[in-house]
Amino acid sequence: MSNKISLYIHIPFCKKKCLYCDFPSYGNMENSMNEYVKVLSEEIKSLEYNKFNTIFIGGGTPTFLLLKEWEVLKESLNYKLIKEPAEFTVEINPGTADKEKLLFLKNMGVNRLSIGLQAWQENLLKNLGRIHSKNEFLELYKNAREIGFDNINIDLMYGLPSQSFENWKETLKEVVLLEPEHISCYSLIIEENTPFYNMYNKGVIKIPSEEEERKMNEFTITYLKEKGYDRYEISNWAKKDKECKHNLVYWELENYIGCGSSAHSYINGSRFSNSDDIKEYMKNFFQLNKNEKYKNSIEADMEEFMFLGLRKIKGISIKKFNEKFKKSIFDIYGNVINKYVENGYLILNEDRIFLSEKGIEISNSIMCEFIIN
Ligand code: SF4
Repeated sequence: MSNKISLYIHIPFCKKKCLYCDFPSYGNMENSMNEYVKVLSEEIKSLEYNKFNTIFIGGGTPTFLLLKEWEVLKESLNYKLIKEPAEFTVEINPGTADKEKLLFLKNMGVNRLSIGLQAWQENLLKNLGRIHSKNEFLELYKNAREIGFDNINIDLMYGLPSQSFENWKETLKEVVLLEPEHISCYSLIIEENTPFYNMYNKGVIKIPSEEEERKMNEFTITYLKEKGYDRYEISNWAKKDKECKHNLVYWELENYIGCGSSAHSYINGSRFSNSDDIKEYMKNFFQLNKNEKYKNSIEADMEEFMFLGLRKIKGISIKKFNEKFKKSIFDIYGNVINKYVENGYLILNEDRIFLSEKGIEISNSIMCEFIIN
């Protein structure tokens, strides 16, 4: 097996649920945090690995945990004598981490922060149900820099209710002025089972038209390029050598292990996952550990290789596909590749296949054609 493996740790708690969010995270469950962290620490201690290429603590809002809970988490990582990974990221929300907590993370070995800002305008933050203001974000960012964090991502969203093109321009421009190393820009998707879904269907919120959203997307691409950010994935931009190593593990179908509720693992073609339900995870962890385990079929692995790999701007390596699956990519996907190369949605360049600009715009429908019947 590959000796490279990454670790994902899930903290499912948020101070309050954002109105658009369908992630496995929960508001108003602070009472369970202490017990959850104890179970999570046992899970970490039980891992058979102690060397990780990257570590990512995500959520939810990991920084919603109290310092004493972070101590427990740190202790479990120390117990494993985990060597310093190449990248150790923590997701962080403004309003949940003061200087003391940031310093604790720094001393724990965290070397990358991913801050959820989403929008620059107070009214838009409020519409989204975010718990923080722009000023709280600015304070967090300033503190993080002062403490010495030199690798920071800022998460942004466009296509938001009541968001104008000018709002989006302002958001991007103000964020770029702060010179973060990495910027993620996601277009809002109204997901079922979120308050936004009902609000949208009842006409309570109105989102920008497709045309407006396309304009925002085009501005993002041009502006970030002009400012020295390289688009390396459909929704992610980074300064030189600052791509998120952990996310590349997912997109390159490399091995990773997930701890905590709803965390998924992928090791040598086998997938495992823990229960989404926090209480069930805490109850069953000691007996069951991973509640689902299945081996991906070769076909499913090939599909994932294509879906995930094509999210990267440089796409997939033909050689890597052929070596991994011991089959020529053209025997499996020749028809679909040729079709999209001919009409300019895919580009075939020596060893690589990637989406063109217009291919990215319809990436979802192109990816569907990589499903093997
Ligand atoms: S903070 Fe993040 S995980 Fe929590 S509800 Fe908001 S979007 Fe979802």
